[in-house]
Amino acid sequence: MNQANPNPVIPRDRHAVSRANISKNALKVLYRLKDAGYRACLVGGGVRDLQLGREPKDFDVVSDASPEQVRELFKNSRIIGRRFRLAHVTFRGEIIEVATFRGDQSDVDASEEGRILRDNTFGTLEQDVWRRDFTVNALYYDISDFSLIDYTGGLDDLEHGRLRMVGDPEVRYREDPVRMLRAIRFAAKLGFRIEEGTEAPIFRLGFLLGDIPPARLFDEVLKLFQSGHGENSFELLRRYDLLAWLFPDLDELLAIERDEGDVHRFVSLTLENTDARVLEGKGVNPGFLYAALLWGNVARETERLREQGMPEAPAIQQAGRMVTDAQVQSTAIPRRFSQVMKDIWALQPRFRKHSGKRALSLLEHPRFRAAYDFLCLRARAGEAGVADDCTFWTDLQELPPEEQHKTLMPRKKRRKKKAN
Ligand code: ATP
Ligand code: MG
Repeated sequence: MNQANPNPVIPRDRHAVSRANISKNALKVLYRLKDAGYRACLVGGGVRDLQLGREPKDFDVVSDASPEQVRELFKNSRIIGRRFRLAHVTFRGEIIEVATFRGDQSDVDASEEGRILRDNTFGTLEQDVWRRDFTVNALYYDISDFSLIDYTGGLDDLEHGRLRMVGDPEVRYREDPVRMLRAIRFAAKLGFRIEEGTEAPIFRLGFLLGDIPPARLFDEVLKLFQSGHGENSFELLRRYDLLAWLFPDLDELLAIERDEGDVHRFVSLTLENTDARVLEGKGVNPGFLYAALLWGNVARETERLREQGMPEAPAIQQAGRMVTDAQVQSTAIPRRFSQVMKDIWALQPRFRKHSGKRALSLLEHPRFRAAYDFLCLRARAGEAGVADDCTFWTDLQELPPEEQHKTLMPRKKRRKKKAN
């Protein structure tokens, strides 16, 4: 457990956080709060990443103004959350989250197991510090004098590449089990080591994730895999025995093939590919990601149904439905993404046909590109029997449109010749 640092204030010339690297909108929010007489600080990832010399993903502000007071100060704001109420100040292309200092632990609503159900008791900065998750996330940049405030030793942990929980790790995981996933996300993203006392309870507390609403877990899964460090996050989830609580069927399949088979290779390759896309600033469709994570199970289930005599197309669709229905027990999948996922799976067998109307309509299918990328990832992962299809459709796309048409509809071409 950490004790309060007796000299928590680091003056402006002795840390690396500078206004030059803080977004204009975040500064606007900080100054307007300060000018209205409130205490206002930048906190969380913004401070952490700037001190590390990295570019923050977003800027979080904390203040002694209540969400309602923030709402009054900013026309462009609204109050969100129930369990944890705060204000979002919206600018073009950027949202600044403004939280209110949380008060003492003892005033919080908790479940029998210690899980925090509601945390809307407000307090001071000195109290708020102990409600943060990791020491490196508990650094405050004070806009009134540009100092950094470090009560928990976060700066030292930051310098040593160490992720350490504020307070008693087990108690803090029980309060909010998602902190286990956050530990993994930050360790993967920052390349930090999870300090011993902070990592030990994770191995035995994974089951607590079973109580988290599937929608919140879905959001966390996306953060883990769309961070640009998805492959690393995936391996850490496995190392800490947490994958089973997010993707139970996939976890089981990986155990069966002992990491040496197609499934592990395919998932790794997909995440590697996703990481590269994120680093290039390209988007990643969550439907594509989920389609890949669950493909091993879908393929297996399809095979089972085919052995029972079901034709391929309905088999793959039914397998997809079964695997999806099982998965949403763990993490939700919003419909707009599950539809993408099902389309990608359903289109896979159609790449085997290299001519005819069905092949032409595949090329024109709105989900062609995603399904084709998926097919070629399967080929790269060494899945049997798909390499030729990947090559065929790759070559085809390099032809001009009228040539593509001729390749797919060769009979039409012959008929035309005769008519001439
Ligand atoms: P990112 O770079 O992903 O934005 P972050 O550290 O800013 O990382 P956020 O989810 O934006 O993470 O949260 C902002 C801050 O709020 C965190 O740094 C942490 O201090 C606090 N926080 C967020 N979620 C929790 C939680 N579940 N328990 C305790 N503190 C939390
Ligand atoms: Mg943040």
